[in-house]
Amino acid sequence: SGPGTLRLMGQPAPTGTTRVAAVIGDPVRHSLSPTLHNAGFRHLGLDWTYVALPVAAGSGEAAVDAMRVLGIDGLSVTMPHKAAVARVVDRLSPAAARLGAVNCVQRSGDELVGHNTDGAGFVQSVRAQLGFEPHGKPVVVLGAGGAAVAVIAALAEAGADVAVVNRSRDRAERAVEIAGPAARVGVEGDISEAELVVQATSLGMNSADPLPCDPGYLRHGQCIAELIYHPARTPFLDAATAGGLTGVNGVGMLLYQAGEQFELWTGEQAPIDVMATAVGLSL
Ligand code: NDP
Repeated sequence: SGPGTLRLMGQPAPTGTTRVAAVIGDPVRHSLSPTLHNAGFRHLGLDWTYVALPVAAGSGEAAVDAMRVLGIDGLSVTMPHKAAVARVVDRLSPAAARLGAVNCVQRSGDELVGHNTDGAGFVQSVRAQLGFEPHGKPVVVLGAGGAAVAVIAALAEAGADVAVVNRSRDRAERAVEIAGPAARVGVEGDISEAELVVQATSLGMNSADPLPCDPGYLRHGQCIAELIYHPARTPFLDAATAGGLTGVNGVGMLLYQAGEQFELWTGEQAPIDVMATAVGLSL
C-alpha cells in the first residue's frame, strides 16, 4: 500500500486520519471525479476522501498554496487552472512540462509535483480497449485543442507516426512543435492511411454539429477513438462503426487518466472497472 496509507475496509466515513484529495475548477460541481475516486478508495479500503472545490479563474495559484498549507495530498486540476498550476508547483513531470498544463498534483515529501495524465490515460485506453499498440503505426488526430495536444504528444512518445488535421493550421503547427519529430501537420487524405483515427475536436457534442471529417476517407480495419463521451455516441463514431470499424468513445480516456492520478497519489493500482460502474459508465 501507499506511504502512510491506512486500510479501513467498509468504513467510508472520514476520520481524523483521513487523507484528502480534491478537484479544483470552475465549473466543478458537475465533475464525475469525486464519485470515481471515492469508489476506488472504498473498494481498496483506503483511508482517503475526495471532494470538489469550486475555485474561480485567477485563483488557481492560491489554491496550490492552500494545498500546501492544508496538507491536501492529491489535487486534480481542471478548467481554467491547468496553466496557472503548472507555473507554481515545485516540479513538473516531462508530460506536464511539454504541455505547460497540469491536471494532477502529487505530494512527494515536501514537494508538489505537477503531472498531466490525459495523454497517458488516452494511450492506456486504446491499448486496453482496442488492443492498439501505437509503436510504429500511422495515426491521424483530428483537432489540435487542449485535449488533442496531450493525446498527440503521448502518441508520439509511444512511437506512433502522427498526422495532425485541424481547422486552424497555426494550432496544428503548435501541437506538432510540442510533440516533436514523430508528429506532422497532415491533411484529410492522410486518414485513409491511418491505422487509428482519433476524433479530438469538440464537433459532435451538439447534435447540429457537422462531422469532423468526410467519413469517405475511413477504411476497413481501422480503429476509431472518439474523445467525446457526452453524448456516448457521436454521429462520427456511429458512422465509423456502422461501416464495420472498431471504435470507442472518450469514457476510457476519462477513466484511465483518473486511474493514473489515483495511482500517483496512493501508490495503488486503480480499480478501473469499479470506478466506471460507480459513475454509470461502461468501457
Ligand atoms: P478545445 O476548445 O481546446 O479544442 C477544440 C477543437 O475542436 C479544436 O481543434 C478546434 O479547431 C476544433 N473545432 C471546434 N469547432 C470546430 C468547427 N466548427 N470546425 C472544425 N473544428 C472545430 O477543446 P478540448 O481540446 O478541451 O476538447 C475537445 C473535446 O475533447 C471536447 O469535446 C471534450 O468533450 C473532449 N475531451 C475528452 C476528454 C476525455 O477524457 N475523454 C478530456 C478532455 C476533452 P480550431 O483549432 O480550428 O479552433
